[in-house]
Amino acid sequence: MKHIVIIGGGIAGMETASTLTDAGHWVTVIEKEAQVGGKLNNWSYLFPDFTPVEKIKESLREKCEKKDFTILRETEVQSVNRKNDKFDINTSSGQKLEADAVVVATGYELFDARRKEEYGYKIYDHVITSADLEKLLLPGGDLTVAAGAHPKRIAFVHCVGSRDEKSGNQYCSKVCCITGVKQAIELKKRIPEAEIYCFYMDLRMYGKHFEELYREAQEKYDIQFIRGRLSEASEKIDKSLLIKAEDTLSGRPLKMNVDLLVLLVGMEAGKGTANAATTCGIECEQSGFLKTADSFLKSNFSAQEGIFLAGSCTAPMSVNDTILHARSAAIEVDNWLKQTN
Ligand SMILES: Cc1cc2nc3c(=O)[nH]c(=O)nc-3n(C[C@H](O)[C@H](O)[C@H](O)COP(=O)(O)OP(=O)(O)OC[C@H]3O[C@@H](n4cnc5c(N)ncnc54)[C@H](O)[C@@H]3O)c2cc1C
Ligand code: SF4
Repeated sequence: MKHIVIIGGGIAGMETASTLTDAGHWVTVIEKEAQVGGKLNNWSYLFPDFTPVEKIKESLREKCEKKDFTILRETEVQSVNRKNDKFDINTSSGQKLEADAVVVATGYELFDARRKEEYGYKIYDHVITSADLEKLLLPGGDLTVAAGAHPKRIAFVHCVGSRDEKSGNQYCSKVCCITGVKQAIELKKRIPEAEIYCFYMDLRMYGKHFEELYREAQEKYDIQFIRGRLSEASEKIDKSLLIKAEDTLSGRPLKMNVDLLVLLVGMEAGKGTANAATTCGIECEQSGFLKTADSFLKSNFSAQEGIFLAGSCTAPMSVNDTILHARSAAIEVDNWLKQTN
């Protein structure tokens, strides 16, 4: 039986672990947090069909209970050293592991919206991020603003920390346009009287059913999409916000009062992935995401023999794409182990 160590217990790491266990391997998952599941632990409903996250988490829980793999929680990898055709691994909690292969599945981190000071995140009370809104949409979340009333007018800002040279991120985070559509619909279902506006540069509805959901947002839920970049937000005395933008279709400057401003923050590779890259001696791209051996046939391979990659540590991706990437990582590891041993 071969031993595979997976770094990161998000949906990518857990799906890889589950598939490798089914193939008859012994798997250890190393997760730095107290619970597995990664970002999904903080999300409410998933685009494109509003599947409750609880359903995916339940299947994760079942896998953890039924399948025979080890999870080391609140643990990080301190060193990975190649010894002949194996890897010697030391963890922050003192374990010494010997592995036949390693899978890096360290996911992403959210862009810190405080870096876009002009939008007033953590300065004004009613400026929140899409990640904050996910938590508010969970059972028990409080969607009221001033004096316990629901927001009457809500604006979403696309591309916060993505496609933005000033933030150092040229790439598109891929999932935030459809996240905005999902969240706007969810808000409209709960607060039917609210007016909702989405300020975008381009809309990227790349996935199955995304375009249909975007149309539904406009036609059924009356959500308004304005092509324009927000220049700044400022707080008024009653805590509502004045936002300034340019409508780039009409060419006119635009001012609007809103009660809630939601920043659709992008995905960044983050420290967890950078640390794993250093420890495993694998390369990152300029964006910080992990470099794959090639874009087509080797998207689960690093340049280091025996070290594989799974999920959004390689690029922004949806849950569905992450699961598929994780399963293909497991197949590649299994094939590689059969060929090399
Ligand atoms: C606001 C928002 C809403 C979203 N909504 C949806 C949606 O509705 N539908 C959808 O399909 N997608 C959605 N997504 C995308 C979704 O979050 C990702 O597809 C998914 O989380 C990727 O899973 P992952 O396992 O690759 O990464 P993560 O979820 O980031 O998991 C990575 C795991 O690795 C751990 N880790 C990191 N570094 C280390 C280390 N060095 N050592 C040990 N452990 C480590 C982390 O603690 C974490 O548990 C959304 C994204 C955002 C930002
Ligand atoms: S997915 Fe949409 S909001 Fe996100 S970076 Fe790309 S264009 Fe901007």
